[in-house]
Amino acid sequence: MKREFAVIGLGRFGGSVCRELSAEGMDVLAIDTMESKVSQFRNIASHAVIADATDERVLKELGIRNIDHVIVAIGEDIQASILTTLMLKELGIKKVTAKAQNDYHEKVLNKIGADQVIHPERDMGRKIAHSIISNNILDHLELSDDHSIVEIKAGKKLVNQTLVDLDIRANYGCNVVAIKSGQTDEINVSPMADEMIHDGDILVIIGADKDISRFEKQLIADE
Ligand code: ADP
Repeated sequence: MKREFAVIGLGRFGGSVCRELSAEGMDVLAIDTMESKVSQFRNIASHAVIADATDERVLKELGIRNIDHVIVAIGEDIQASILTTLMLKELGIKKVTAKAQNDYHEKVLNKIGADQVIHPERDMGRKIAHSIISNNILDHLELSDDHSIVEIKAGKKLVNQTLVDLDIRANYGCNVVAIKSGQTDEINVSPMADEMIHDGDILVIIGADKDISRFEKQLIADE
């Protein structure tokens, strides 16, 4: 099913979102104030236009009201990002995703009704920090300030044990939501209690950060 998207701001982030959506066959309206940016997307997006998104009249003329989901990827110009997001919500766009430059920007975007606020540099920084601290944490997805989902390489202390043997929920307060097999690459979602962990497996764990950290320190940390 084709869905309509608009990406406002074709910098590194917006440009990458626009490329991926287009590659997935989505209908994308790409907007930027700079001719040089727009011309890069003429053969990629369904429509690429030079326009200032802070001008409400221009947004209306572009038929932005008919678009399901607008991504505001204006970077440096925080004022333009806020004004654009506010107008899009006032125009009745169902879903507006906005990129925040810093925590204050994020707060304002949430207050004025952005449906999703993303902070790619901060989130990527956190991910990298977690994987630097522990070689075993392969990926980290923050669910809230104190809860996450992590992918952890099964270490020697886990191999050839079942989930019931380890009783991770009772002992550490976190849950194994999936096991990715190191041999077959298959993913076993909601594994049964008698599921055996093998060498090379990756555990997908959900829980409070303090519990995940305790689990990681006692059972996983570089053996
Ligand atoms: P990134 O860090 O993702 O590269 P940038 O700040 O470099 O972000 O890019 C943001 C883009 O948003 C730029 O290409 C800029 O021309 C565009 N932009 C800034 N203000 C507006 C606006 N009012 N309307 C449309 N595009 C805008």
